[in-house]
Amino acid sequence: MKLQTRAPRTTAPILIPTPPRASVPRRLRTQDALIITCWTSVALAVTLYLSSGGAATVTDIPSAFSALGIVTGLVGTNLILIMLILAARIPLIDRTVGQDVAIAFHRQLGKPALYLILGHAVLLTVGYALTDGSNVVAETLSLFNTPDLPLAYLGLGLLLAVVVSSVVAVQRHLSYEVWHVIHLLSYAAVLVAVPHQLSAGAVLAEGTVQRIYWIALYVLAFGAIGIYRFVLPSVSSLRHGLRVTAVTTIAPGVVSISLSGRHLARFTGAGGQYAVWRFWTGATWWHAHPLSFSAAPNTATLRITVRDLGAGSRSLAGVRPGTRVSFEGPYGIFTDRVRSSPYLAVMAAGIGITPVRALLEHSPLHPGEATILLRGSDQNQTYLWDEMGALAHRSGSTIYSMMGHRPRGLDTWMSAQALSSGVTLTSVFPHLRQSDLYVCGPQTWTDAVVRDARHAGLRPQQIHVERFDW
Ligand SMILES: Cc1cc2nc3c(=O)[nH]c(=O)nc-3n(C[C@H](O)[C@H](O)[C@H](O)COP(=O)(O)OP(=O)(O)OC[C@H]3O[C@@H](n4cnc5c(N)ncnc54)[C@H](O)[C@@H]3O)c2cc1C
Repeated sequence: MKLQTRAPRTTAPILIPTPPRASVPRRLRTQDALIITCWTSVALAVTLYLSSGGAATVTDIPSAFSALGIVTGLVGTNLILIMLILAARIPLIDRTVGQDVAIAFHRQLGKPALYLILGHAVLLTVGYALTDGSNVVAETLSLFNTPDLPLAYLGLGLLLAVVVSSVVAVQRHLSYEVWHVIHLLSYAAVLVAVPHQLSAGAVLAEGTVQRIYWIALYVLAFGAIGIYRFVLPSVSSLRHGLRVTAVTTIAPGVVSISLSGRHLARFTGAGGQYAVWRFWTGATWWHAHPLSFSAAPNTATLRITVRDLGAGSRSLAGVRPGTRVSFEGPYGIFTDRVRSSPYLAVMAAGIGITPVRALLEHSPLHPGEATILLRGSDQNQTYLWDEMGALAHRSGSTIYSMMGHRPRGLDTWMSAQALSSGVTLTSVFPHLRQSDLYVCGPQTWTDAVVRDARHAGLRPQQIHVERFDW
């Protein structure tokens, strides 16, 4: 009798499957729907107030000041809650626009929200002073003695600190961690203002539709933050139990860190994405860093590659095998999932190579489909170029390199030599108009590439940028 033999179990790691491509029109529609939802919520807050008696309270100038003060407060608070939702790392928002775009929108709302809340305080104080026939200073002092109002002033002060700390000129003088801690005060600012809304304003009075609306908005904002920023990342980190397996110096100031853990077959990351990593050593546990995968995640190993760009990233070179690692993510849409065109054009400069390398490894490619341009100022910036060469060879992709500094004073992404030889984006990427262009590198370099790509006729949805500096 012939013995039945089983095929030996393969132990070779296999790539985590690439997520299916998303339909571009659908993503754009979701984008529009998200923006419409934001502005509708602001309009709803005002409409609910005016229609439930707010408009009827306006009978003279003092009451007009007060009503306007309430409206500015409602719109300001609504914007702040939208800002919290944008920063909550909700998967739908990340998948649709990416976290960088969500944070850019969050930032844009910061100052208008603060001005509206300041307007709320000033207009109401003036309105009350006119009604009582007192002056603004006396009215402010009397408001301080009203229950819950001191907390509201505290909230305003905290908000002011948060916005001022985020002004570029101020932020430059703060370390990221100090800025981040000040920024977390925005949660406290919103929460300490809630009691005065309940007691001083009629907006959250029991039994009103407004009350339901505002409670729903608060629950959505703080619930999303709780779930997506704390609960799910903690669950994923505990589930996978990642530890450092190797730290390899690949160039001066650049290390690759390999990680391994449990159930990696169920890890959902894609090449091109990043996670926010925290290494549990005495020197590093208190700062987390967004770092892209530098290899497509597989069932045995995850890998990141870090360039020493500051004290925090420098200290990562010292972590040892066995170190526990927790993470938030993976996040980002610098992936094959958002591709829409038949050809792939890829450009990477410096440490911007990391997501590009993982993207390339994780993209199902036909020979001739992808063209890659690697850019470095000098020989020290050729990190992972050998691996890119091997990947290009395996997938039948064309790969170029461009070495040399950009000419001083010229806004270009090219080296002086390439510029003088007449190189252009279309000479490097002959199918540029039918390509998705993926770019990662220093900000001014990336901006120059994107500008040329737009001039060459690429639509915004064909251009995918990963920024390391938001
Ligand atoms: C999406 C993304 C992917 C990245 N991928 C890589 C990569 O693969 N390899 C690599 O070497 N670098 C990568 N970076 C850059 C890396 O995160 C920063 O260089 C590093 O965090 C700097 O920290 P530091 O303490 O050394 O310097 P600091 O001087 O403390 O910080 C310098 C700047 O880095 C940014 N930064 C620091 N910490 C954070 C944080 N927790 N969240 C957001 N921004 C922060 C801030 O803009 C800060 O101003 C990536 C950045 C982003 C946003």
